[in-house]
This record gives sequence, C-alpha cells and structure tokens, in this order.
Amino acid sequence: MMIDIELREVMSAKKISPPGLTKRKWKSLTQLVYKPPAITANDDNSLQCSICYLEFKEGCVLKELKCLHRFHNECLRPWFKQTDTCPLCRLKIK
Ligand SMILES: [Zn+2]
Ligand SMILES: [Zn+2]
Repeated sequence: MMIDIELREVMSAKKISPPGLTKRKWKSLTQLVYKPPAITANDDNSLQCSICYLEFKEGCVLKELKCLHRFHNECLRPWFKQTDTCPLCRLKIK
C-alpha cells in the first residue's frame, strides 16, 4: 500500500499553493529592453543583474520590480518560482 500513501501525499501537496509568483503576477511585472544610459548612473545596481552578477547589455530583456530593481528576465523567472520577493531588497511582490 506504499503507492497509496505516496499518491495521497502528491494530492495534498497540490492543494498547497506554490511559494513562488503566480503566472498572472509574473506577467504583470514591467518588462523592458535594456538601453545603456546616456549618462553613467551613480547607482551600480541599476547596471548589473544581482542574480547572475553580469552587467546588462543593450537589447537584454529585463524585468523591473516595484522597488525599481532590475534583473534579467531569464534570471528572475526561476527565482520567482521559489519565492515572491525581490532578490535584492526582499520586497514582497504583490
Ligand atoms: Zn542575470
Ligand atoms: Zn528590490
């Protein structure tokens, strides 16, 4: 009867909503294509992705959060499958 127990565990796990961001919330995030600023910004954080630590390059698809922190679209996606807070300032995405 081991299979029975395992199945029940899977069923109950499905009822608990995942900790990450919902698809709808993910889609509601501001998406932008990065363009290097004309004037060099003082804040280095705005030029670098804090997940992969690579500088943004022209043409990169980024997501901007409500806290104005920006990350690569492809870096942020797996992150938001685990949690719903900003990787940098831990602001909860509502
Ligand atoms: Zn990145
Ligand atoms: Zn933030």
